[in-house]
Amino acid sequence: MKITDVQERRVSIASDIENAYISFAGMDVSILAITTDTIVDGQPVVGYGFNSNGRYAPSGLLQHRFLPRLMEADPTSLVDTSGSNLDPFRIWQTLMRNEKPGGHGERSVAVGVIDMAIWDIVAKVEEKPLATLLAERFGDGTPDESVPVYAAGGYYYPDSDLSTLQAEMRSYLDAGYTETKMKIGGLPLDKDLRRVEAALEVGGSGDRLAVDANGRFDLETGLAYAHGLSPYGLRWYEEAGDPLDYDLQRVLAENYAEPMATGENLFSHQDVRNLLRYGGIRPDRDILQMDPVLSYGLVEYMRMLDELRLRGISPRVCIPHGGHQFALNIAAGLKLGGNESYPRVFAPFGGFADSTPIENGRVRTSEHPGIGFEDKADLMELFRTELS
Ligand SMILES: [Mg+2]
Repeated sequence: MKITDVQERRVSIASDIENAYISFAGMDVSILAITTDTIVDGQPVVGYGFNSNGRYAPSGLLQHRFLPRLMEADPTSLVDTSGSNLDPFRIWQTLMRNEKPGGHGERSVAVGVIDMAIWDIVAKVEEKPLATLLAERFGDGTPDESVPVYAAGGYYYPDSDLSTLQAEMRSYLDAGYTETKMKIGGLPLDKDLRRVEAALEVGGSGDRLAVDANGRFDLETGLAYAHGLSPYGLRWYEEAGDPLDYDLQRVLAENYAEPMATGENLFSHQDVRNLLRYGGIRPDRDILQMDPVLSYGLVEYMRMLDELRLRGISPRVCIPHGGHQFALNIAAGLKLGGNESYPRVFAPFGGFADSTPIENGRVRTSEHPGIGFEDKADLMELFRTELS
């Protein structure tokens, strides 16, 4: 088996939303198609990849470093022992040749885009949904039938008032979600608490609403928010401080009894190890949100899960950032705790298969072989238009 072609393009996902740290007005992603010489149903198998939102398109890294490394490698070094399918672990070693340790952003995003396309190919060659392939190879044999998903939104829109926020939250419940998440940290504490109360008027109990500060706070502000948020009994309090400030996370956890969440900006298993060593994570309630695409792909994500396992922590504490079908397949196949979803933004990359609506806060994986992109018409249309 050989890779015969790769195509990469940069695509805008600009929107007028903001979180506490960044505007998404210039946000873009890389999309990638990898074509192979393996024929299934009369067509060469093609795998697709893209990066999760929040980090920019790693086009330069892909075009000048990682895709040439892939294409210049001996094809026999990229396949499994049968020779008839790609080996994501061997490919990862090839991609990371001559890369120094440490300093994980943002080459980790470029490698993650390739890794997504490779897993799409591997599952398509086996003619199985990726979730099934993962459960059979690395899990207990059967994927979860459906995965809990929550609607991430509640951004700071220009000119938005509380009724706009409430209408947004209501639309998620109407669409089948039972849990939502909103941004905090973009306004002073008292105004943010008014927004939280407005969202709770729509969503009901606090354990169905999470809040996300996107790493904005210093310790003092993080503690003030912890104190202010505590009475609401929220689903979780996300990324209060800088993602790499493990001691800040530890002190906050000591001062906030409710669940906390972090990890979407940790891009290596070494960073996750440090979070587990020093971040005061409480496995009985806290949520870990590492994003398999932003952090060197599923190959590295499995090393992160190993770090958890070594400490007796269940993968059910993981609810990945990203909101796409790749993370959903991983959540179902490796039995994680859930998956993020962005019903209003980042189309067509966000969201799941056309055949799998959100029902009672859960979504199934597509029955289509691979990641299931062929079961998502808007995304396939974009791939076809941009990558031909
Ligand atoms: Mg977040």
